Amino acid sequence: MPTETFEFQVEARQLLQLMIHSIYSNRDVFLRELVSNASDALDKLRIAALRDDTLGADVSDLHIEIAADPEARTLTVRDNGIGMSYDEVAELIGTIANSGTAKLLKELREAQDAAGAEGLIGQFGVGFYASFMVADEVTLVTRRAGESGGTRWTSRGEGTYTLERLDEDAPQGTSVTLHLKPADPEDQLPDYTADFKLREIVKRYSDFITWPIRLASAAEGDAEPLNSMKALWARSREEVSDDEYHELYKHISHDWRDPLETVRLQAEGTFEYQALLFLPSHAPHDLFTRDHRRGVQLYVKRVFIMDDCEALLPSYLRFVKGVVDAADLSLNVSREILQQDRQIQRMNRRLAKKVLATVKDMMTSAPDKYATFWREFGAALKEGLVTDPENRDAILAASTFPSTHHDSEPTTLKDYVERMKDGQSDIYYMCGDSRQSIENSPHMEAFRAKGVEVLLLTDPVDEVWVEAVGEYDGRPLRSVAKGDIDLGDEEGDGADAEREKRNEEYAALLGWMTEQLGDDVKEVRLSSRLTVSPACVVSDAHDITPALENMYRAMGQ
Ligand code: ADP
Ligand code: MG
Repeated sequence: MPTETFEFQVEARQLLQLMIHSIYSNRDVFLRELVSNASDALDKLRIAALRDDTLGADVSDLHIEIAADPEARTLTVRDNGIGMSYDEVAELIGTIANSGTAKLLKELREAQDAAGAEGLIGQFGVGFYASFMVADEVTLVTRRAGESGGTRWTSRGEGTYTLERLDEDAPQGTSVTLHLKPADPEDQLPDYTADFKLREIVKRYSDFITWPIRLASAAEGDAEPLNSMKALWARSREEVSDDEYHELYKHISHDWRDPLETVRLQAEGTFEYQALLFLPSHAPHDLFTRDHRRGVQLYVKRVFIMDDCEALLPSYLRFVKGVVDAADLSLNVSREILQQDRQIQRMNRRLAKKVLATVKDMMTSAPDKYATFWREFGAALKEGLVTDPENRDAILAASTFPSTHHDSEPTTLKDYVERMKDGQSDIYYMCGDSRQSIENSPHMEAFRAKGVEVLLLTDPVDEVWVEAVGEYDGRPLRSVAKGDIDLGDEEGDGADAEREKRNEEYAALLGWMTEQLGDDVKEVRLSSRLTVSPACVVSDAHDITPALENMYRAMGQ
């Protein structure tokens, strides 16, 4: 079979350039990425074999092997997992199928320093490409379970790669061979063919991997795996270091950065399960699009069952990553069955409550972390105010909103209520595109003049939840831009008579304006809400707004 040469997709090429030329710190993680992929491939094969007994794959000794050859300066990571077909190699390894890629690459180019670039790179899931941080040539040989021929992929990372169909029987699974760059202590490039180095890296980054990781060089009979394979979620908190939790997070989330917070839950009784959940420190770019991969991993008694299991958490917590290990489910359980399972629904609610309690806790115990969390995920969490009435109070208690009280620090509703003026019965808010556009709005004038605090709501979801929730602690939520607002200074008969008189006085003008504006407005009326601007547009208390339409569109409805 001929060897064909292909060009990397533009984004992939740019990313590889960065891997090769810009990223220098902590290159050890290339091995973590290869092991992580191998582990995923073994998980997938076990499930595939379970579902299809005609697959013909050998699942008796699923494992990962690392083989170093100091003379040839190569390092090979091998697994006997699911493998890839020719087309899959071309698609998965030659392109970056991430919709946020173009945007990120732009940011990457603008990030002047390598540290900034490395932070950004974590969002790509560039796992496999990390090989090019330490190798000047990479060869991947793979055979998809159930197929007879294999595929060889090679690249030097500079623009092109080759693909070749292998007619002879390739071994089951995938092997990735790196031709290592020369070791260079000055450049902090260690010798990755040294046993001790490999042991150290596996121990540090991949200890929890549930498949044995073996060194090929280990003496016959000494097949003791390098990793302990202990499921972190089944161990007590004291036994596990933060670093170990973080490495598990990176493996399952494909994020390169540490998570913000770790949430543990162990449920005993008739339906036993253990959950280890993580709040990431950054929102993915596609959090509000339909192709966002949501949900946590499901295990049954330490056996991986599925990724992105959306039945385990409500949709407004779709950014949460982690593992749920349930004792009493069938290994064959399907997504459809999970969606309808009473026990799973109960677990879903319990996990949601636990996450919300954790967030609430962060508000006081770790305000900085909370601020990061809220910046990244607040907009998603607030969807729960609409979709999860049962947890509405818990979500409100964990939420903060920008307000006129403070330029930079958002407020809780509880604090807003405590600051309310004597005689103020409503909680005022205004929705808009940005804080600035709201503050410049004529609607705000009277409130500013009277020193009445207004919440400044700029997320599309805000318009929806304020309608759905309606009130907080018995106090109505009122838009300063909708309907009649009485700030309490025109009380009594005198005020009514005064308004009557002014209406009469201006009747001709109002009538003329109504005529001129025609169908564009419902009504023209005198207002007491303005102090400087001559006029403003007000919507009816129950009109749907453009931002709301946008949100429904984003949610795919
Ligand atoms: P990610 O793991 O975040 O998806 P990677 O760049 O690490 O990104 O891998 C890209 C894809 O290539 C994987 O999702 C997987 O489908 C495929 N892949 C990589 N390594 C292997 C392997 N050892 N066995 C099977 N498939 C693999
Ligand atoms: Mg990967």
